[in-house]
Amino acid sequence: MGSIVLFGPPGAGKGTQAQRIMDQTGLPQVSTGDMLRAAVKSGTPVGKEAKGYMERGELVPDQVILALIRDRIQEPDAANGVMFDGFPRTVPQAVALSEMTDISHVLAIDVPDGRIVERICGRATCGNCGTVYHDTFNPVPASGCPCGDYQEKRRADDNEGTVLNRLEAYHQQTSPLAAWYDERGVFHRVDGDRAIDEITTDLLAVLN
Ligand code: ADP
Ligand code: ADP
Repeated sequence: MGSIVLFGPPGAGKGTQAQRIMDQTGLPQVSTGDMLRAAVKSGTPVGKEAKGYMERGELVPDQVILALIRDRIQEPDAANGVMFDGFPRTVPQAVALSEMTDISHVLAIDVPDGRIVERICGRATCGNCGTVYHDTFNPVPASGCPCGDYQEKRRADDNEGTVLNRLEAYHQQTSPLAAWYDERGVFHRVDGDRAIDEITTDLLAVLN
């Protein structure tokens, strides 16, 4: 197996499924969104350049993202492939990626637009362990986060205004990648408008 791409609109459940698939495949999750948020937080040049785009819900320029990815996949834990989450998001990113590494599976999580705002606006993450929760659909257990130290984190861009821009960016710039990967015979679509466990089962079936 080569690297995997988790594909879908914002809020489709890519991060949620990546955490579960990682347990099964051992491939490390590479989330460009997480990498960019860390860069913004620590005030690096990449972070300074990316911040405005992220706040507006626009895509960060390809060359910024590709420089991050080039460095990341040279790290030792990426030697047997990785699971990309939120990357690639444009055809030029996919073309550049194809020159860096083999993609064996693109797993598309299909969620209708009408579900996206409620998914994103209820999202919370444990700042200690990274587990993704939802106020209604996947709440923190009454006994607390299994890591034992739940620290609620909400993203600044998880608000209704920005979500609509992010969704538009997805339809205009990212969704053409579905056909691009389909032509290369690696594209698999699963229905993401179901229980989290059912989706995980389907995704693992594609990989096995
Ligand atoms: P993405 O990484 O694609 O942006 P996330 O994994 O962060 O998406 O999920 C977005 C929100 O939707 C989170 O609050 C998550 O708990 C919730 N969620 C994920 N999968 C499902 C699902 N199958 N049904 C309902 N809510 C879900
Ligand atoms: P979500 O899955 O909820 O849309 P991400 O965490 O993947 O959120 O991305 C957050 C923001 O970071 C995006 O709105 C965009 O500004 C930027 N970003 C992340 N990955 C990429 C990428 N591959 N190309 C361009 N911009 C990106």
